Amino acid sequence: MKKLALHWKIIIGMVLGIIFGFIMNSVGGKDFVSDWISPFGTIFINLLKLIAVPLILASLIKGISDLKDISKIKTMGLRTIGIYMATTLVAIIIGLSIVNTIKPGEGMSQDTIEKIKSKYASDEGVADKLTKASVQKDAGPLQSLVDIFPSNIFKALGDAKMLQVIFFALFVGICLLLIPEKKAKPLVNFFDSLNEVVMKMVDLIMLFAPYAVFALMANVIIAFDDTEILLKLLNYALCVVGGLMLMIGFYLILVSIYTKKSPMWFLKEISPAQLLAFSTSSSAATLPVTMERVEEHIGVDKEVSGFVLPVGATVNMDGTSLYQGIAAVFIMQVIWPEGLTFTNQLVIIATALLASIGSAAVPSAGMVMLVIVLESIGFPAELLPIGLALIFAVDRPLDMCRTTVNVTGDATVAMMVAKSLGKLHEPKPKEWDDNYEKV
Ligand code: ASP
Repeated sequence: MKKLALHWKIIIGMVLGIIFGFIMNSVGGKDFVSDWISPFGTIFINLLKLIAVPLILASLIKGISDLKDISKIKTMGLRTIGIYMATTLVAIIIGLSIVNTIKPGEGMSQDTIEKIKSKYASDEGVADKLTKASVQKDAGPLQSLVDIFPSNIFKALGDAKMLQVIFFALFVGICLLLIPEKKAKPLVNFFDSLNEVVMKMVDLIMLFAPYAVFALMANVIIAFDDTEILLKLLNYALCVVGGLMLMIGFYLILVSIYTKKSPMWFLKEISPAQLLAFSTSSSAATLPVTMERVEEHIGVDKEVSGFVLPVGATVNMDGTSLYQGIAAVFIMQVIWPEGLTFTNQLVIIATALLASIGSAAVPSAGMVMLVIVLESIGFPAELLPIGLALIFAVDRPLDMCRTTVNVTGDATVAMMVAKSLGKLHEPKPKEWDDNYEKV
């Protein structure tokens, strides 16, 4: 155990958690897991969320004030958004190509559809997604834009509104560049020091990661109770997982061609963040770890990672949009084949792109936004609960996989933007990091 790297410890924690979950399922120990094991996973997620906001604030303010040149901020912003949009588009096109070629929905028997309908169509989880989607839809078309500008920064910090915090940090950072250096220094030093403290917190919290993922995975396993339906949906799930793997391949090609770094090295360094994304199903909760890995183990400068990663966790969800493309077409193949027109698929491309921007970085947000994607193509309202019911049983495992891709995408783009600005350096993991990985 002494020399084991962090990602191996996390993998061992995950595997043991899965085994433990299955054992508890078979001996009727679900309550034990939810009462005595799962809270440790929640504590871990809480700790990560606790430091996410101070981390964004500190690293972005410090990073921007280090840039010394306001025009660089514009270049970085435009590049980031441009690459994010492009990768998301690739993801949706991969998803649609797969689902139209394999057609997982066509082989589904009427019997299975009936079974799923009776089990999930009136399920609370499905109803919850529909309600959330209608709240989201009722907001005006420019509401997402308005939401970026906070009226009360303490409320924005308290509610962890990422885009609002990013806006505030950029604003402060830019103003620090505009005032005399002597006056700016104390505040810059304060945020620099806060940034160091929070990074150290990430290191310490990560010591607990292998145990936390054990708890998180055990908790996920006890929720899977209908293996029969899971197997029936295997074709659909495999399409999503296959698409997500292609997407990871695409990132690795980008890393190797654009940044000239070894894809295997990139995967190894980023893997703790990927494993946490998989275990928590939340890009937001994973963000502190993604930032720590990208800055200290991949060598991206703070001013780039401090901007690109929090923005990415909020608006760049390639895995989610790929999944939305596949899920929308799969549902149509099963219950609304007449809707499968070329125009509708073009509308899916546009709305899945917007939906991934609007999806919150929390578990199952992608499914809420899927409702909006379906509505945009005129999917019959009375079929919506059945459509969601169809994919509900496998949503959690697919959420885990798509979140992993979301986080990998953010890290890849951070590397690309850093490279293009000359801000990608040889990483220098701190001495202490080295030790904790080897403990
Ligand atoms: N869970 C995903 C994330 O946090 C969003 C989703 O697709 O549901 O990135």
